[in-house]
Amino acid sequence: MLQSRLYIPTLKETPAEAEVVSHKLLLRAGMIRKITSGIYTYLPLGLRSLEKISRIVREEMNAAGAQEILMPMVQPADLWQESGRWEHYGKELLRLRDRHDRDYCLGPTHEEVVTSLVRDEVRSYRQLPINMYQIQTKFRDEIRPRFGLMRGREFIMKDAYSFDRDEAGADASYQAMYDAYTRIFTRLGLRFRAVAADTGSIGGSFSHEFMVLAETGEDTLAVCRQCAYAANVEKAEVRIAARVSELPSCPAVEPVATPGARTVEEVAAFLGLPPQAVIKTVLMEADGHLVAVLVRGDREANVVKVKNMLGAVTVDLASPEVVERATGAPVGFAGPVGLSGVPIYVDQELMLGTDYVCGANAADTHLRHVDLRRDVVATACADLRTITPEDPCPACGGAVELVRGIEVGHVFKLGTKYSEAMHATFLDENGRERLMIMGCYGIGVSRVLAACIEQNHDDAGMILPPPVAPFEIHVLPLSVREEAPRALAQEIHDALTAQGIDTLLDDRDERPGVKFSEADLLGAPMQVIVGAKGLARGVVEVKDRRTGVRQELPADAAVQAILAWRAEVLEGWCTSLA
Ligand code: ATP
Ligand code: MG
Repeated sequence: MLQSRLYIPTLKETPAEAEVVSHKLLLRAGMIRKITSGIYTYLPLGLRSLEKISRIVREEMNAAGAQEILMPMVQPADLWQESGRWEHYGKELLRLRDRHDRDYCLGPTHEEVVTSLVRDEVRSYRQLPINMYQIQTKFRDEIRPRFGLMRGREFIMKDAYSFDRDEAGADASYQAMYDAYTRIFTRLGLRFRAVAADTGSIGGSFSHEFMVLAETGEDTLAVCRQCAYAANVEKAEVRIAARVSELPSCPAVEPVATPGARTVEEVAAFLGLPPQAVIKTVLMEADGHLVAVLVRGDREANVVKVKNMLGAVTVDLASPEVVERATGAPVGFAGPVGLSGVPIYVDQELMLGTDYVCGANAADTHLRHVDLRRDVVATACADLRTITPEDPCPACGGAVELVRGIEVGHVFKLGTKYSEAMHATFLDENGRERLMIMGCYGIGVSRVLAACIEQNHDDAGMILPPPVAPFEIHVLPLSVREEAPRALAQEIHDALTAQGIDTLLDDRDERPGVKFSEADLLGAPMQVIVGAKGLARGVVEVKDRRTGVRQELPADAAVQAILAWRAEVLEGWCTSLA
């Protein structure tokens, strides 16, 4: 492909709006452009990469027995009312109305549509199992779209849905998708991990997330250093020491002035106590009802655990106004003693101690000598905090570490949640009507591209894994005004292209410095540099974009030599498929 004919609007400066490297580089390399918040156009290079990712996804999905379909993006409200999600999905669901006043939504996911399809068509156990998938644009009205393709409002997803006759079949379908995902992310050259995950608003019984390991990831993972345990911290269970049978006695509660001390650190420092001696009181709104969650001062309350404990649809931190109204005090002085009308949930770990400090529900005041058993009427006590590196691995008791990850894929075993709500049944061998057992499986195709860049870049630009790069080889004739380098570069380009290798020829009349820096920015895994000086010595130069290693190859046998070098570079990228 000739670079002069491709629309690649590169930028010298990094756009101010971009915070993470993938967003910066996707904009700078002219791969995407923003239309409005969280909504992008994919330009030729960006689209090429997305299509390459999609191709690998398709190959592995097809190999795993899934069949490709394409469902509508606009979905009727009735289907969502049947599943109950019209009420429950919340504000991420973009709702619209047609000229006949009928309600619709833009599909954020397709359980309802696919379930209605299958329930109307599939009657007999003989037609099962079935797994159907699509690669399609999704819309979610994310509260905080950010980081470019990482968290868009409109984005490309591969979503698959399996329907089985029984649990064993559903487990096999799940495993087949898990294995396909492992192959997909390995082929894409990503360093990733599958972790146990929360099932979120999709619902269902169990799930794994596929996480690309990167500092910029929005998720935190707890990974055991000893065993295979890995889980999203939203889900990772905290195992605490056995309960102490007898706690020391605690003096009577007394108020203490703590002027201006609001945070745990401030209060602890003011009273000369460690943060563990302070109770952190976190007020949350669960489906519109206020609840108080208590954790030790040095811990974080876990919203997902609270949500699951309450069976709530949405749980959010209460706003400062709500906190002030409920406690009668400014933010920073909430506490459980005497807090009436608000259910109090205590993290299990707090029960291991006594004689705590907590907010007094009065400005500039805390209470000390608080004994939770004596002074607080708790509604329940449970695991409500986030795991820390001090906690033991819930599986083996070993040491865990926390790492950041980007969620690129998610597999769920749904069970009968949708088949029950939407009556997706079949007749078994004995003519009995039974519910189909479902699974659903997503990959964020556009987020995968961002994740590839987060893992593979340097100061000069992207270093794309060969299977994802828009072009594998970038041929750079240093001057197109000179016949010999121009002609040889063209010849190399044509020969590689004829071999089916995606090759880009920089046929523009630009200075070598511009060509070099743009080639590094665009990040093709390999560059072939053809200059008059080298040719005078009978050589061309090849550069491995990742290692920076340059090598001179004989110009007269350039194409063969490049093919051999390419094979070597590719091998360096390939992680073995188990
Ligand atoms: P997240 O926790 O990041 O919001 P999710 O759990 O809502 O993700 P799923 O419903 O499992 O995501 O969707 C399947 C896949 O779609 C995710 O694994 C992710 O790769 C991708 N995805 C989800 N939301 C977005 C988004 N806003 N932008 C880009 N990709 C997304
Ligand atoms: Mg989400």
